Amino acid sequence: MTAENNQPLSGNAMPRFAGIATMMRLPHVESPDGLDAAFIGVPLDIGTSNRAGARFGPRQIRTESALIRPYNMATGAAPFDTLQVADLGDVPINTYSIEKSMTIIGDFYDRVLAAGCKPLTMGGDHTIALPILRALHRRHGPVALVHVDAHADINEEMFGEPIAHGTPFRRAVEEGLLDCQRVFQIGLRGTGYAADDFDWPRAQGFTVVQAHEVWYQSLAPLMVQVRERIGQAPVYITFDIDGLDPSFAAGTGTPEIGGLTVPQGLEIIRGCRGLNVVGGDLVEVAPPYDPSGNTALLGANLLYEMLCVLPGVTQR
Ligand code: MN
Ligand code: MN
Repeated sequence: MTAENNQPLSGNAMPRFAGIATMMRLPHVESPDGLDAAFIGVPLDIGTSNRAGARFGPRQIRTESALIRPYNMATGAAPFDTLQVADLGDVPINTYSIEKSMTIIGDFYDRVLAAGCKPLTMGGDHTIALPILRALHRRHGPVALVHVDAHADINEEMFGEPIAHGTPFRRAVEEGLLDCQRVFQIGLRGTGYAADDFDWPRAQGFTVVQAHEVWYQSLAPLMVQVRERIGQAPVYITFDIDGLDPSFAAGTGTPEIGGLTVPQGLEIIRGCRGLNVVGGDLVEVAPPYDPSGNTALLGANLLYEMLCVLPGVTQR
């Protein structure tokens, strides 16, 4: 263990229900300088098409994350042994303007990436993936993508608007932000307007894995294929909590039945170990629809699992 690395505040030093809520009870810092990875909140939900509330996601994820301990009992990952990690707080989005928020978020992530810090983002709705991918592109060029979602989020427009939570990956393709042959969309399902909803991403070169194709199955074999295809290309993980079934994650704005299980979600993230993961996000947790806190707890744990597969994390 490196003594100078931040450590989550132990439950034996301060009760887990006490103190100021940061992600995993890590220090809150203002600057990404010197950090290997940071948790960042983006409390934007004005791109939502149905039930709003994801603006409260970062706060609730931080609250529920108080239960997470530093060592991963399943994978042996000990992220705080080798990585310097902190909570960078929230991006001060403009809640009246999506367009201005895109710039604010992009500028914020430019600073994070310039410091060599890998962002792990608490949403917010899925609109926020677009400015993050733009910033990643400025630093890394086109990135591979592991995208868990019930929805493809490739709409041409929503209510006439080009930027909303159902359009980020259409814009990302148009802007050349993605390495399209290395994009995997997993968990897609539900009702649509037309078959094109899922055929358009396939036509771009995306691999689309609909939820019903993998019901009752381990996703470990799929992740072998994902790792083979992505190789050492920079890859971003974007995880919409509605990719999981609403019986596990009801606290979200656009739930769809017949989704992935929690173990399948864990297999996807853990299957990214060994890849050149350059960041990740967990979006669409909507606390007003999450009275038990279970969805936020799940989101917090999935973000921790993303931390555990970042390059440089050791196992013991
Ligand atoms: Mn989405
Ligand atoms: Mn979705």
